[in-house]
Amino acid sequence: MSARILDGAALAKSIRAGCAERAATLTAAGTQPGLAVVLVGDSPASAVYVRHKINDCAETGIRSLLERLPATTTEAELLAKVRELNADPTVHGILVQLPLPAQIREQTVIEAIDPTKDVDGFHRMNAGALMVGQPQFRPCTPYGVMKMLDHAGAMIRGAEAVVVGRSNIVGKPQAMLLLQADATVTVCHSRTTDLAAHTRRADILVAAVGRAKMITGDMIKPGAIVIDVGMNRDENGKLCGDVDFASASEVAGWISPVPGGVGPMTRAMLLVNTLEAAERAAGRS
Ligand code: NDP
Repeated sequence: MSARILDGAALAKSIRAGCAERAATLTAAGTQPGLAVVLVGDSPASAVYVRHKINDCAETGIRSLLERLPATTTEAELLAKVRELNADPTVHGILVQLPLPAQIREQTVIEAIDPTKDVDGFHRMNAGALMVGQPQFRPCTPYGVMKMLDHAGAMIRGAEAVVVGRSNIVGKPQAMLLLQADATVTVCHSRTTDLAAHTRRADILVAAVGRAKMITGDMIKPGAIVIDVGMNRDENGKLCGDVDFASASEVAGWISPVPGGVGPMTRAMLLVNTLEAAERAAGRS
């Protein structure tokens, strides 16, 4: 193996420590940062994600408020809850855990969140602000990837960056952030012809597809920085990314592992966004 490991778990730990300092400063000045997490239904996976978020808040000195609603909740009931949280001055960030039950339209709920509290950065106003280069909240996963690139000392300006995946929560905002950092960005998706021809040109390759080990070593430019956002199960039920770590790590210069790469960074950036929201609300940024 030649690639250096981009240790997201260690980087996230240092970001959380910085968040704890910012939270303490803000609290001492009279504003304890607050995050409300809304969990609808009883999906075990969502419950685990939410528990992590609540624990991260406790560790960092951010006040958290967990709103659990039954799987039978109507869209109107959830919208009422969102409006209540919008009006609560002690809540600086609101996160509605996705996916939602089928009777609730996700985008309708996202659009109901006060954009100044939209710490996921999914509201169309925040997506638009990012698009025009004036982001208010950067979606947590791509924001975390940018921190990982910084940490690896990546020269983003002028680099060929290839993002595989074009979802609204990862691929598209990732492309925007890389563009803003002056990379030359290519976005690939399921209709891309000859994916490998694009990935082989990439100095920076971000895989956000959701297909186990689909990016193999022969698709990677020697020395490239490879960031694996994917979270999949392999044939043995083991957690793995979109990148075939064994072959890719023989070729890449840097590579992020799964688990222990982007996942912990996504969690850490939620804390950062909550602090940014609280600091703005307190007139401190
Ligand atoms: P989506 O399913 O919303 O998007 C997947 C994207 O991959 C789509 O744009 C799709 O193209 C593209 N795609 C699918 N098949 C191919 C293919 N064969 N070749 C090229 N592109 C393809 O997923 P998300 O963006 O929400 O998530 C992507 C992955 O990242 C998942 O594994 C998810 O679990 C993980 N994830 C991890 C996070 C973390 O914190 N580590 C956070 C969020 C997500 P098209 O648009 O044409 O359909």
